[in-house]
Amino acid sequence: MYDYLIVGSGFFGSVFARQMTDAGARCLVVEQRHHIGGNCHTEDNDGIHVHKYGPHIFHTNSEAVWKYVHQFATFSRFSYRPKVHYRGNFYSFPINLMTLYQLWGVSTPQQARERLEAERIKIDKPSNLEEWILSMVGRQIYETFIYGYTRKQWGRDPKELPASIIRRIPIRLTWNDDYFNDRFCGIPIGGYTQLFKKLLHGVPVETGADFIADREKLESKATKIVYTGPLDRLFEYQLGTHDWRGLRFKQRTHDVADYQGVAAINHTERDVPYTRTVEHKHFEPVETSHTVVTEEYPTSWKFGQEMYYPINNDTNEQLQQKYLAMLPANYIAGGRLASYRYFDMHQVIASALQVAAKEIRYHAAGVVPLPSVNAPRRRAA
Ligand code: FAD
Repeated sequence: MYDYLIVGSGFFGSVFARQMTDAGARCLVVEQRHHIGGNCHTEDNDGIHVHKYGPHIFHTNSEAVWKYVHQFATFSRFSYRPKVHYRGNFYSFPINLMTLYQLWGVSTPQQARERLEAERIKIDKPSNLEEWILSMVGRQIYETFIYGYTRKQWGRDPKELPASIIRRIPIRLTWNDDYFNDRFCGIPIGGYTQLFKKLLHGVPVETGADFIADREKLESKATKIVYTGPLDRLFEYQLGTHDWRGLRFKQRTHDVADYQGVAAINHTERDVPYTRTVEHKHFEPVETSHTVVTEEYPTSWKFGQEMYYPINNDTNEQLQQKYLAMLPANYIAGGRLASYRYFDMHQVIASALQVAAKEIRYHAAGVVPLPSVNAPRRRAA
């Protein structure tokens, strides 16, 4: 008998498993895919670590989370500086003084501020995303950076989208082109999968094991279930299905050492069907005569496909709350799928650490003692 059966080996499941194992609990992880690491999984392609489910840059302001992940990997000092490609021109991104110089020739914060002010279109009460952006930054920035990209990402015209899906348009009136403003940023050297192997060291993991397909048997193996899959599937879609945005990845190998000179280029033209090209070796430089580039295509999600981005509208939100209320007492739900939320990795790690700490306190208080709760702490190798 296990204390915890953990469904999913992404960051939520793996961090929880590590913490509880170190606290002396017996954990079993089941993962439906044939690999560990959830969406952070990387695959070794002759020395290049390919981010199979989209590029993952680790960034956080939390020193505790940054220290935590360093137990399992050394991180490179990578910082994310994507470029934008629009109608044959390349631009610095996120929008900063260099971008505005490339667009308009302005070169000081004051010149940029004045030009932006002149570009804004006066719209009294913007009623949709397009109007809101035009009123904030004007037509040229909207068309170059936002219109096509948003249309592809959401599969709808920005006129049909609420302004709330983009909370702010980050425009920096400095030359800083570092995408993330966080205190810590990097990529685990050796790839994420190596990090997960260390994180799960000593924890039994069954891959290719779908919890739902074998639910009764697996449930009987543990006192508590930590579920990181989607709740609608857990409850057999009794109340309905959540909507998601999907992604399709087209991976190409090129016989050149360097294909695009940077980790990511955003393609903002509406007629280019992909939104990004990602060249993986720029995350962790390696000398190879080949390179791997992935084109990323947003898709409308169909039942049974991988779920990437939740669509957090009222209907989906209400459905999520109803499913949460149905969760059995011995279940803990966590992570992006079960929460129906977009989370960055550091948020998921912080949340798993918090839930594990609560469980450890709960057992330490003797409410339901774990048989092995006082076992010596084991550290990951
Ligand atoms: P997941 O990684 O999805 O893990 C859940 C696991 O549960 C999966 O492996 C799944 O197969 C398994 N599972 C589900 N149901 C079952 C079942 N029934 N039986 C067995 N196993 C099951 N975050 C960043 O911080 N930086 C980035 O640059 C970044 N880039 C991203 C790019 C893209 C395209 C996307 C979509 C996300 C990105 N993220 C990024 C977010 C990051 O992927 C998540 O924060 C992280 O993967 C969440 O971990 P998780 O454990 O919640 O979920």
